Amino acid sequence: MGVRSDYVTRPREQIASILRARKRFISAAEIHRALGSAKARVSLSTVYRTLEHLQTKGDVTVRIEPAGESTYMLCEPEHHHHHAICKVCGRVDDVDCTAIEQFSESLRSLNGFALEDHAMEFFGRCKACQ
Ligand SMILES: [Zn+2]
Ligand SMILES: [Zn+2]
Ligand SMILES: [Zn+2]
Repeated sequence: MGVRSDYVTRPREQIASILRARKRFISAAEIHRALGSAKARVSLSTVYRTLEHLQTKGDVTVRIEPAGESTYMLCEPEHHHHHAICKVCGRVDDVDCTAIEQFSESLRSLNGFALEDHAMEFFGRCKACQ
């Protein structure tokens, strides 16, 4: 019994630890490759299923790349924040929403517009890539 439940939880832990180590958006295929080099026998469909599960749990966020591919990253969406993505190395930093809250207030006072929702990503170069 113990062996069986270990076997079931292993891919999830392995995938979570790969995502934790990268701190950038990576595709299911990249995760699958990384698992392969760790000598883990996890199929690509298990990777997708596990990512879906982590997404439902709220541990993983998905991003659709310009080429249409889905990429994944560990993230806490329940804590509202934005992502600053390095165009050179792909590093992702969490940034808080203070600037947009101020923008929302000026929208209300200048245009009478009530901003209810927004989604935004920032692109540039991280400290190491400047
Ligand atoms: Zn995040
Ligand atoms: Zn960078
Ligand atoms: Zn925001």
